[in-house]
Amino acid sequence: VREAGGDNILSLSEAAHKKLNRKSIIEKRLLMALDQHNLKVLYQPQVDLKTGQIYAVEALVRWDDEEIGVVSPDELIPIAEETGLINDIGSFVIEEACQQAAKWKKQGLELKVGINLSVREFRDKNMAKFILDTLTKTGCPAHLIQIEITEKFALEAEAETSIIQQMRKLEEEGITFVLDDFGTGYASFRYMQLLPINTLKIDQTFVHSLTQSEKTQRLIKGIVHFGKSMNLTVLAEGVETNEQKELLEQYECDAIQGFLISKPVTADNIPQLLSS
Ligand code: C2E
Ligand code: CA
Ligand code: CA
Ligand code: CA
Repeated sequence: VREAGGDNILSLSEAAHKKLNRKSIIEKRLLMALDQHNLKVLYQPQVDLKTGQIYAVEALVRWDDEEIGVVSPDELIPIAEETGLINDIGSFVIEEACQQAAKWKKQGLELKVGINLSVREFRDKNMAKFILDTLTKTGCPAHLIQIEITEKFALEAEAETSIIQQMRKLEEEGITFVLDDFGTGYASFRYMQLLPINTLKIDQTFVHSLTQSEKTQRLIKGIVHFGKSMNLTVLAEGVETNEQKELLEQYECDAIQGFLISKPVTADNIPQLLSS
């Protein structure tokens, strides 16, 4: 792009065109996928470092389209947000997750299930009601659901009373909230006072540089300390190695999630992970 040739201008607009095209294809296929129930949910375990037990799983959406192949959440979610289809993805994941938590409970497995929700989804004034209705419909107890919101979400929600009210209502009913990607947002802690947050999830970028950087080690120690003093559970995501796990144990981090324990798997695979 540095050269001042006409070709570059052409290829740039070609790239933009391609991107737009891909977006509209994804949108079209996504509408169909939602209609035909072609989305899936995988679950990734979270382990309590004190007991060594899996106490929760995070629900992560998956889409393998017969025409365009696998579309990763990192590509899918932003497009779904732009087009408003995120609300349909959310409804689907909420229903799946509640159904699954209820099913596990019937089998004698008390597992919390985490659901990722974006700020846009919470702008729907009926979000809390929809979640509570789904709990009733599926027979899932509220305490088995934890909603993951990002730090960016928290920052935006701070100024939106209807979102705060909905979150508090859900908390009163027994649902807990996890603050995802902690440490990647902005240094405003006002939302800590305003929002009913229960768990801090340390972002995986920190975890990945943990063993190489002493600065990161101090940072994570600090976050764990901060979380404890706020009476929060502190969970680290993206844990891939034993060294990372051991350091986190040393810092008295409460829980971990990551490939070291397991990749996201289908619901059927969770019970065997519990017993191993
Ligand atoms: P996230 O909520 O931060 O989820 C963690 C991501 O890290 C997941 O990617 C997970 O598969 C991946 N991961 C887990 N353990 C490890 C590890 O040890 N190493 C590495 N390198 N990666 C690990 P995934 O499933 O591709 O999801 C990406 C993002 O898409 C999620 O980030 C979340 O923001 C969003 N997302 C996924 N499912 C949903 C959903 O149902 N609704 C919404 N709104 N967003 C979703
Ligand atoms: Ca998450
Ligand atoms: Ca995260
Ligand atoms: Ca992320």
